Amino acid sequence: MDLRYTAEEEQFRTELRSWLADSIPARWRDPGFWSVLPDNEAFELRRDWERRKAEAGFAGIAWPTEFGGRGGTPGMKAIYDVEMALADAPMTVNPLGLTFLAPTVMAIGTEQQKREIIGPMLRNEVIWCQGFSEPGAGSDLAALRTSGRLEGDEFVVNGQKVWTTNALHGDKIFAMVRTEPGSQKHRGVSMLLIDMNQPGVEVRPLKQMSGASEFGEVFFTDARVSVEDNLGGLGNGWGTAMLLLSFERGASGIGQYTVFRRQYDDIVATARTFGRSDDPVVRQELAKRLVELECLRYHAMHVLTEVEQGHDLGSESSMTKLQWSEASQDLWETFDDLLGPEATLGHPRPGLDLESMQQEAMWSRSVTIWGGSSQVQRNIVAERVLGLPR
Ligand SMILES: Cc1cc2nc3c(=O)[nH]c(=O)nc-3n(C[C@H](O)[C@H](O)[C@H](O)COP(=O)(O)OP(=O)(O)OC[C@H]3O[C@@H](n4cnc5c(N)ncnc54)[C@H](O)[C@@H]3O)c2cc1C
Repeated sequence: MDLRYTAEEEQFRTELRSWLADSIPARWRDPGFWSVLPDNEAFELRRDWERRKAEAGFAGIAWPTEFGGRGGTPGMKAIYDVEMALADAPMTVNPLGLTFLAPTVMAIGTEQQKREIIGPMLRNEVIWCQGFSEPGAGSDLAALRTSGRLEGDEFVVNGQKVWTTNALHGDKIFAMVRTEPGSQKHRGVSMLLIDMNQPGVEVRPLKQMSGASEFGEVFFTDARVSVEDNLGGLGNGWGTAMLLLSFERGASGIGQYTVFRRQYDDIVATARTFGRSDDPVVRQELAKRLVELECLRYHAMHVLTEVEQGHDLGSESSMTKLQWSEASQDLWETFDDLLGPEATLGHPRPGLDLESMQQEAMWSRSVTIWGGSSQVQRNIVAERVLGLPR
């Protein structure tokens, strides 16, 4: 494991830090600033800021320059994640496009797809959704039923997707669709790139316990998509999906560590404000969380070293997902235990952004589900890393 960054990487850090300091208005860091803004307004603010960040050369950090990226190293991408967290920078509004779709298009897209998809995505002109999960197909994605019937040079798509992140803001969706009638499991499926702004696509918001609607259901009723708008070949959607999901593997977890470590400090401050910091049980719990977070940091640096040296992490990436998601959930469970009912219902206290913490505590319930649930990750580690029998 190598814990050092190169001089060039440190120079990149200086430039990025300075740009972030100049471009993020101070009021964006005021407690509760984001939570009082209407969803649409907050989304548009973030969308515009992120577009300016891309124009300044701080997007697609490790992407090749021919695609508008910076051509940087994995170390620079890790520095980017850390600095974004330290600056309280807004999260990307285009996570599914940037993390999953763009690298897949770079790897297997047609020349036209590369030209038409990547640039507009980097500039946030097109917000992409991921249409994999259905009411009867989550972990068992191969049970998907959304169908595409060929009519001339178009597919006519019918079915339903669920849990679609950013559904209310989405312009396009990369969706897993059964394009061969009667096909079973992973055969006969294509990944279609469907325009969401058409009469055959209806989006309904899903209300979360936090009150927000970051997800939705997407209904296709005779929605139309050109045959050419498939990624990776007709009937080859399963292979495309596996490639697409593998791009999570480059993520080292160092950005998550930075976020969680700051959240940990906020939770310690909360313990003090509520007069619980001398309680030996609370102190023991907080110590356990700190140990967990430091283990995450060293694992993240190990993963980063592996990626820098060009090693494929393969199924080891499931260990990273397990580690960061469970560390986060444990952290917020400590917050819940600390405050009891006030963890959900408490009113603001001077010096504490209690509302943001309450939102984070609720959000943490989801992190062991999306991106492959903890149970599914454990199966992968058991079978493919440890070689245990099925
Ligand atoms: C915040 C959030 C955002 C999401 N965003 C998107 C999105 O943008 N696009 C999209 O397509 N989907 C999205 N999803 C859906 C997500 O991919 C699914 O929730 C996930 O795949 C699990 O599927 P499921 O909810 O149907 O649960 P199920 O697959 O029904 O699982 C239910 C329970 O059974 C367990 N289980 C299932 N199979 C096994 C097994 N073989 N062995 C052991 N245990 C098992 C699971 O771990 C879980 O505890 C999102 C979900 C969340 C929570």
